[in-house]
Amino acid sequence: MTYPIDHTHDPALRSWVESANAESSEFPMQNLPWCRAQRLDEIEAEGDAELAPVFLATRIGDEIVDLEALADAGLFEDVFEDEDEGVMGFALVEYLVAASPAERVAFRRRLSELLSAGDARVRDDEELREEAVTPVSRCVVLPALEPRDYTDFYASVYHATNVGNMFRPGNALLPNYKHVPIGYHGRASTVVPSGTGIVRPKGQQAPAEEGGSPSFGPCKLLDYELEVGFVVGRGNELGETIPIEEAEAHILGLCLVNDWSARDMQKWEYQPLGPFLAKSFATTVSPYLVTLEALAPFRCAAFERGAGDPQPLGYLSSDANRAHGGVDLTLEVWLSSAQMREQGHEPVRLSRGSFRDMYWTIAQMLTHHASNGCSMQPGDLLASGTVSGKARESRGCLLELTWDGDSFAEPPVLVPGTQRTAIELPTGETRTFLADGDEVILRGWCEGEGRRRIGMGECRGVVRAAR
Ligand code: MN
Repeated sequence: MTYPIDHTHDPALRSWVESANAESSEFPMQNLPWCRAQRLDEIEAEGDAELAPVFLATRIGDEIVDLEALADAGLFEDVFEDEDEGVMGFALVEYLVAASPAERVAFRRRLSELLSAGDARVRDDEELREEAVTPVSRCVVLPALEPRDYTDFYASVYHATNVGNMFRPGNALLPNYKHVPIGYHGRASTVVPSGTGIVRPKGQQAPAEEGGSPSFGPCKLLDYELEVGFVVGRGNELGETIPIEEAEAHILGLCLVNDWSARDMQKWEYQPLGPFLAKSFATTVSPYLVTLEALAPFRCAAFERGAGDPQPLGYLSSDANRAHGGVDLTLEVWLSSAQMREQGHEPVRLSRGSFRDMYWTIAQMLTHHASNGCSMQPGDLLASGTVSGKARESRGCLLELTWDGDSFAEPPVLVPGTQRTAIELPTGETRTFLADGDEVILRGWCEGEGRRRIGMGECRGVVRAAR
C-alpha cells in the first residue's frame, strides 16, 4: 500500500492564495494538511469558544480554508464512491476517516484543483471565498480529530539505548526490544492542542537514600520528548487485526507530539509496568495533520538493521515496508525561557534529528498494536516515542541531551548516575531540565531534490508553576 506521487506534488504548482507561493511557506499547494478551526469573530460573537462553530479545514499559505463550506457547495461530489446524497458538511470528516486510499487520493486531487491558480470555482466566487477562506491570524486552529485513545511507542533504538544505559548501566536494551515495538497506553483526556500551558506535575520521587521514604511534591526533573504522532483513520473490529500490507490505509497522516515527562517520578514508578503519572499529566499535539498522500515523495527505506540484529517476525515484515516504510522528516526542538522572551531573544535550537532513524515504522507499530485483536478507532493517536539519532545533537529530550554519557561513541562512554552538562542560554541561564516559564517548540519539515518543501507547523507549550 503506497500513495502515488502525482501532479499534486509538482513543485511548479501555484495557488490563487498568494502567500502559499512564497518559498518560505510551510503550507504550499503540495501540503494541504487537515485541521479543525474556529473563527475569532465567531468566538467573540458567542463570547465563549465552546459555543463557536468548529469546522474541518485545510491550511494553504497564511489562510485557513473551510472544507465543510466547500463540501456544502457541492465541490467534493463524486469524490467518494459510496456517497448517496452528496457530501453534506457535517459528514465530511466521517467520509474522510472512512475513505479508501483511492478516495483519499481523489479528495486530495480535487482540493488541489480547487486551490490552484487557474481554477475559478472558489477563486472567483466571492460569496464562497468570503465564507470559506479566513486568515490564520483570525482563527484558532486545532487538531483535525480528537483522540479517544492514545498510545505511545519507544521506537528509537538510539533513545532506548541511551535511556537504558542511564537507568541500567551495561544492560541498556532489554531482550525484547528488537522483536517487539514497545509501547504503553497513554491518556487521551490529557492530550492538549499546541499553545496550552503545561502545569508542572506533582508526584512521588524516590527516597534520597536507600531505605528512606519517598517524597511527594513538584517534579524537579521536567522534560519534553520530541515525537511524531500518527492518526488512525479506518479502524478494525474487535478481534480483527491489521495486516502490515494494509496498515498505511488505516493511517491518515502525521503530526508533532511533545510527550512531557517527569523524569524523577518516572524513575521511581516505571518498574514493573512502565510509565504512569510521569507521562499522563499532559501531551501536546500540533494542529496540522500532514497526510500520507502529501508525504509520498518523502518516504524512505525502513531502518537498516545491523548484521547482528534479528529480522522482524513475519507479521511485521513486508517488502513495501522495508523499501519505503520510513519517512524522511527532519525534526527540531527549540527553547525560549521567560527571561529570554523578556529580553527579546529569539528561541534557541536544542537539537535536530530525523524520523528516518526510527527502528520501527509507523506501519509496524500500528500492525503490532492491532495484532492481538485490539480494535483501533478513527482518531486514535499513536506516537513514535522520542526521536533520537546516533549523534549527540539529534537527541530528542533533555534526559539524553544533557547526559554526559554516549552509548554510541567508540568506545562507548557510559557515565552511570546523574552527571550532566548544562545547556547555556543567551541570557546566561543554564538548563539540565525545564524551568517554569520555559517554552518548548517542536518543528518538522520534509524536503528533497526537485520537491517543494512542506512543513508540519509547530507544537508549542509553556511550563507553568506547580499548583
Ligand atoms: Mn514518549
